[in-house]
Amino acid sequence: MDAEFFRTWITCAAEVIQANRDHLTQLDAAIGDADHGINLDRGFTAVLRTLDAQNPGVAAAATPGRILAVTGATIISEVGGAAGPLYGTAFRRAGKALGKAADVDLPALSAALEAALTGVQELGAAREGDKTMVDALAAATKVFRHALAAGASQDDALSMLAAAASAAAVATIPMQALKGRASYLGPRSVGHEDPGAASAALILGALRDAARTAPMTVPGRTIR
Ligand code: ADP
Ligand code: MG
Repeated sequence: MDAEFFRTWITCAAEVIQANRDHLTQLDAAIGDADHGINLDRGFTAVLRTLDAQNPGVAAAATPGRILAVTGATIISEVGGAAGPLYGTAFRRAGKALGKAADVDLPALSAALEAALTGVQELGAAREGDKTMVDALAAATKVFRHALAAGASQDDALSMLAAAASAAAVATIPMQALKGRASYLGPRSVGHEDPGAASAALILGALRDAARTAPMTVPGRTIR
């Protein structure tokens, strides 16, 4: 997976967040302050603007790690609230884990996802089951690791990752929130999907979609 693949992921993520902006905001209206979709859409729109504004030389020299680092830094500077620093950290840590490699294999992507999850948990101190984005990130990361260990193809592993994240987001509905603004509601947070888990599932779904969209490059030629 090259820089183009990661650009495609971020573009797909921005699109799906924009398409679900009102949905995410409504989820946040139920157990938060009704800004999650608005916040993330503003952030990803700024990310696309930043990536598009890179001059051709910089863009051509971009690595997967660099694209994720720019994504994270832009989200941190554009998105307030809890989710901005958390998602920003996730992308920055993932970018750092990828280093300067021009091409990323599945184990490296898996390690980057683990690094993102670790970053989110170091910053927010949420554990699985606390009804946050960690539920979706942790479930997806674990399933992806197991899929690779079992020898799954890229397409299958990414499909499993996206499905695990979606299932984990839905599984937050009966939970009581123990972290973030929703935790102030106590038992009244039960019965609603966590907005951050929902957005994490969308962003990881975009990773699967990027694999289906991006032209597959093999040394010397591009298969479309
Ligand atoms: P805010 O709550 O500041 O308005 P957002 O609405 O943008 O921020 O994001 C809310 C989401 O952030 C929650 O649905 C939850 O998934 C996530 N979140 C909040 N606090 C934490 C935390 N400590 N750790 C992980 N995720 C968190
Ligand atoms: Mg909010």
